[in-house]
Amino acid sequence: MKLEAQVKNTLKKIKLSKKDKILVALSGGKDSTVTAYLLKKYGYNISGIHIDLKMGKYSSDCLKATEKLCNDLGIVLYVYDVKKEMGSSMCYIRSAVQTKHKGAIKNCAICGVIKKWILNKEARKLKFDKIATGHNLDDEAQTVLINVFKGSLQLSATSGPITKNTKDKKFVSRIKPLFYVLEDDVRAYAKKMKLPMHDEKCPCAIDSYRIQVRNFLEKLPGKDKINIRKNFEKISGKIKKKNLKIQYCGICGEPARGKVCKKCSLMET
Ligand code: AMP
Ligand code: ZN
Repeated sequence: MKLEAQVKNTLKKIKLSKKDKILVALSGGKDSTVTAYLLKKYGYNISGIHIDLKMGKYSSDCLKATEKLCNDLGIVLYVYDVKKEMGSSMCYIRSAVQTKHKGAIKNCAICGVIKKWILNKEARKLKFDKIATGHNLDDEAQTVLINVFKGSLQLSATSGPITKNTKDKKFVSRIKPLFYVLEDDVRAYAKKMKLPMHDEKCPCAIDSYRIQVRNFLEKLPGKDKINIRKNFEKISGKIKKKNLKIQYCGICGEPARGKVCKKCSLMET
């Protein structure tokens, strides 16, 4: 099957070891579901983590789908309850951040930064070697275009199926087994395999720049998305990389690109 061959090649390319303890970030959606299913099928040592955002029925449906998947796959699931751990649901956290920053930061950007912060912290605490996410080729093509439009192509220069240039004892490497797979193919595969998933959009995903770019890319054939990624990969070696020196956040102690990490610059400053 095409998708399985693509994923196998990606895992070979990143030299993923069967000894690595991998924590799969499971949202309940199709992408991370297929990621966990295939890693397990190929004999990797995986567990799952779900961040329960506590956003009503949407969140409880996501959690249910994730629990069913982990049960079917026979893997351990860690659940991070945002309300218990951070004091409020993602809706409240987000609106507090937006009020503080006078609405300048969009919903998805806030949630994305906080999720990444949680995943790294929890994976390290639980002694995992790698975090796997369900990012697919459509996500990557969107990211390249967003960085072109925003003049921040340097940020894309280090993107790939495994994090590059970020070796640090507090930083857990992230892998993206679906990096070379089109979203439509992931959806078709998840349906064909009848995998348990909650393939519904987040109710808060209404005002992100990524959604605008995504809608634009939807009008193009899959071949063009593949070309965006492929052609970018050809030139990315020539782009001067950003200084990726890792520091530790002065507020929370987590890895950061500056004196304060992105999550604390949103929530604490
Ligand atoms: P998204 O940015 O929502 O498209 O998610 C990208 C990837 O992040 C997913 O494929 C998952 O691997 C991970 N992810 C997103 N939401 C969650 C969540 N609530 N809990 C755990 N992992 C998540
Ligand atoms: Zn911090």
